[in-house]
Amino acid sequence: MDQLTLMAVHAHPDDEVMSTGGIFARYADEGIRTVLVTCTNGEQGDGAGGAKPGEDGHDAADVARQRLSELRESAGHLGITHVELLGYQDSGMDGWDANHDAASFANVPLEESSAKLAALIERYRPQVIVTYDENGGYGHPDHIQAHRITVAATESTGIPAKLYYTAIPRQRMKEMFEALKAAGMEFDDFEPDADFGTPDELITSVVDVSGTVERKVKALRAHASQGDSAFLLKMPEEAQQMVFSHEAFVRVSSAVEAPGHEDDLFAGLRRPY
Ligand SMILES: [Zn+2]
Repeated sequence: MDQLTLMAVHAHPDDEVMSTGGIFARYADEGIRTVLVTCTNGEQGDGAGGAKPGEDGHDAADVARQRLSELRESAGHLGITHVELLGYQDSGMDGWDANHDAASFANVPLEESSAKLAALIERYRPQVIVTYDENGGYGHPDHIQAHRITVAATESTGIPAKLYYTAIPRQRMKEMFEALKAAGMEFDDFEPDADFGTPDELITSVVDVSGTVERKVKALRAHASQGDSAFLLKMPEEAQQMVFSHEAFVRVSSAVEAPGHEDDLFAGLRRPY
């Protein structure tokens, strides 16, 4: 049997932390090989001093350099053994100018980008691959494209025994949000939409990653140039423990026998001892 290998395909430097940082760290602890594929260089992220694309002080090449170095640090905290960069240009959020650039990841022909990923899948032969659902989790063009190239590459190679999409369980998210509010946390006017997240009944796999929370927080902190996660880092430790301690997934396909509800993405793939 090939060495057990986990591969996650993400759009930008920093996406690896919240939805898959715990499984990376936990499976690395178990000696499983962990491969992160990051599709873009994150040029459309925040620049020095929080400058947004198009504003003074935002230099795409500098932003990419900074974010890729943050990615290395984050990967170190999470025990990711192999970081693979597809090197595409960040497309920016839906509606941003970068959407129109032919070199942006979302505009690169699928045959080309999925062939690059397929070559990595052939090299590492992961039994488990994780990426986003068809909405890219929240609709960012690069996340949707990461989903598309992963589906195409898993189909063309036929390699992963199990394919998963990351998920935020809707009901659990709501309960967590209420608990945090009750504990006195301020969210300004933020109220999650009723259709935010994945309906709980679609979730097949929930992995307990409570032993990795500290490392996830460090990895998130490594991406210091990006303001998005600031509120997660400001949370009190107990709140972080609650929010970071489980990662949920929808199992899309499995070539092996595995329980309908599982707590291990490698269920059905381990040698009996
Ligand atoms: Zn992203």
